[in-house]
Amino acid sequence: MKPAAFQYFDPQSVTDAVARLREHGGAAKVLAGGQSLLPLMNLRLVRPAVVVDINRIASLAYIRESHGTLTLGALTRLSAVEGSDVVRRHVPLLAEAAAHVGHLAIRHRGTIGGNLAHADPASEIPAALLALEGHVVATGPRGERTIAAADLFKGPLTTALDPAELLTEVRVPIDPPGSGSAFLEVSRREGDYALVGVAVLLQKDGGRCARARLGLCGVGGTALRMREAETILESAGVTDDALPAVALAVERAVAPSDDVQASADYRRHVAGVLTVRAVRKAWQRAQEGGR
Ligand SMILES: Cc1cc2nc3c(=O)[nH]c(=O)nc-3n(C[C@H](O)[C@H](O)[C@H](O)COP(=O)(O)OP(=O)(O)OC[C@H]3O[C@@H](n4cnc5c(N)ncnc54)[C@H](O)[C@@H]3O)c2cc1C
Repeated sequence: MKPAAFQYFDPQSVTDAVARLREHGGAAKVLAGGQSLLPLMNLRLVRPAVVVDINRIASLAYIRESHGTLTLGALTRLSAVEGSDVVRRHVPLLAEAAAHVGHLAIRHRGTIGGNLAHADPASEIPAALLALEGHVVATGPRGERTIAAADLFKGPLTTALDPAELLTEVRVPIDPPGSGSAFLEVSRREGDYALVGVAVLLQKDGGRCARARLGLCGVGGTALRMREAETILESAGVTDDALPAVALAVERAVAPSDDVQASADYRRHVAGVLTVRAVRKAWQRAQEGGR
């Protein structure tokens, strides 16, 4: 199918883009990589009266590292995140999660900002951002504000962004020394959305697990942080005795539903199993001194 008619703008600056969004309010949609928006428009599940294409705003595509923070412009393609030496060196979890998004052709167009703004509950990047305790910068008519990953995802395809706000930057703390991370997922086919995805970031201090952060996708209305499981790992460590309790805590915390892909029971079970595997892998990487 073809999309319903719409007015098209391709501003050259963030200021102009925000002005267009403000002018047209909820009737406008931002176009980034188009990998989610265009299928929805073609199926006429979404009919924006106005499309604001941000692809000509070159200043929105960058990856930088400074003062302990990795910053990525919203228009950074997911293939650039996956392939960036800076990302791999400083926040490997983000590169590993990005590599699980769709196929390479999709990652060449899809952007980190679009992926987060789309807020698909099965998307990998939101789960990684939760585990990394990252933030996004939203730029609107009144200027910039920072939104923590924990406050960004409000429901399926729903975020805390206002209709007149553009997600302009993603900020992630650089892994501290002693870190190990892993992203694992189960999907029906290579390149599909995750049935269950698990992002783990651990920090080792001697033999102790000083810090554990777990984000899951595919098992609720949004990506979910697993706080009880984190507490178990931080108090009992990554041990054979503690891991069954971690799996149980995850099974209790997730809220999957039945759909054509898998039953809720299956997703809940896989969430526990996959979390234990991801924790073991992240811990092994932390022990090897790699991240
Ligand atoms: C076959 C296929 C398989 C896929 N598999 C996966 C997968 O496994 N995992 C996964 O996570 N995704 C998957 N995707 C989706 C893909 O990753 C998209 O790139 C991503 O979800 C949206 O990014 P985009 O840049 O294409 O955004 P767009 O499609 O351009 O926009 C998506 C939404 O975000 C809004 N938006 C975009 N950028 C901004 C911004 N800067 N500020 C405010 N709002 C903004 C748009 O208005 C729209 O509502 C798949 C897509 C396809 C077609």
